[in-house]
Amino acid sequence: MDPIYLDSHATTPVDPRVLQAMLPFFTEQFGNASSRNHPFGWNAGKAVEQAREGVASLIGARFRDVVFTSGATESNNLAIKGVAASAPPGRRHLVTICTEHRAVLDPCRALERSGFRVTYVAVDREGLVDLDRLRDAIADDTLLVSAMSANNEIGVMHPLSDMASLAHDRGALFHCDAVQSAGLGPIDVRKTGIDLLSLSAHKIYGPKGVGALYVAKRDPAIHLEPLVDGGGHERGYRSGTLNVPGIVGVGRAAELCREAVDEPLRLRALRERLWSALSKSVDGIHLNGPVDPRLANNLNVRVDAVHGESLLKAIAADLAVSSGAACATASAEPSHVLRAIGLSDEQARASIRFGLGRFSTEREIDTAATIVGDAVCHLRRRC
Ligand SMILES: *Cc1c(COP(=O)(O)O)cnc(C)c1O
Repeated sequence: MDPIYLDSHATTPVDPRVLQAMLPFFTEQFGNASSRNHPFGWNAGKAVEQAREGVASLIGARFRDVVFTSGATESNNLAIKGVAASAPPGRRHLVTICTEHRAVLDPCRALERSGFRVTYVAVDREGLVDLDRLRDAIADDTLLVSAMSANNEIGVMHPLSDMASLAHDRGALFHCDAVQSAGLGPIDVRKTGIDLLSLSAHKIYGPKGVGALYVAKRDPAIHLEPLVDGGGHERGYRSGTLNVPGIVGVGRAAELCREAVDEPLRLRALRERLWSALSKSVDGIHLNGPVDPRLANNLNVRVDAVHGESLLKAIAADLAVSSGAACATASAEPSHVLRAIGLSDEQARASIRFGLGRFSTEREIDTAATIVGDAVCHLRRRC
């Protein structure tokens, strides 16, 4: 039996319709999108602009405000370091949340080494940010507030409009890492007051190695210092010959997400089916993170009285999920997110993250619940 894939927070497969859209741009339509003197270039350029439109319409942006990057790690770095590099002298403070992805935390750490102050706002036992606490963290010299739309481990969703207002009240910009929620519910950058927003193609059934950063048109304009200098591509924000097939892929992936309006409901129902099966078959299983507000496709649980690593090892061949040990690297450090919501190292290691996806079926969900139930039973020597 093929293993069941329930690790959609880590990556998703390329949708066959996305692949179809990309393929011609590797071969017949291989032009450089910057070539102005022949149809090869014109066609590539046109495809890039259509993709920009696709990404923009997913987030309620104007197409000119979308910059293509190599992924959300680069988008987050460009947003955070790019704003910081052109900060006025009186604004050398940033605010973020302690449960952010490392692609936000690490650029913040880098800025601390070059003299910025950063406040990492704590969360409660469900991973929620207290808005009064956030308000207190923002000061008159705060340059940027960065908060993710939804957490990649426990799925908790943040009140973005309120957070953006708090940032704007003090004259700070608001950046959002929206990688996990993209395609799982409506988002409107302009209504929400988001100034900078990061997306990744490979979390929305597009290819790896491509992403986007939305940069709001504001008066005065947001000044972003590029990370990469060169030919002045992407309005100077991101030089380098455009990855046309990848960009076409993220554009098509975004369109498909926008069309699939019922997908969050379907995923939520599947997620509830999984949670209900697991809570029936496994004693001492607990939900990590809130019931609500929670990303439709996320379930994160911990199991009492089993050795986390043994559990993950027992299911690994049949079920692709993530453990509560750091997902990004080979290190077995317990997750900073699970620690931040008050779990012990041991509880974090005995946690399992399920990420349901577009191709998940009821049958797979039922089998997954059985696999986990049986493994726990064996480890407790009751089966
Ligand atoms: C996956 C992920 C990223 C990194 O995206 P890449 O495109 O792989 O660089 C950033 N933030 C969050 C919340 C993620 O889940």
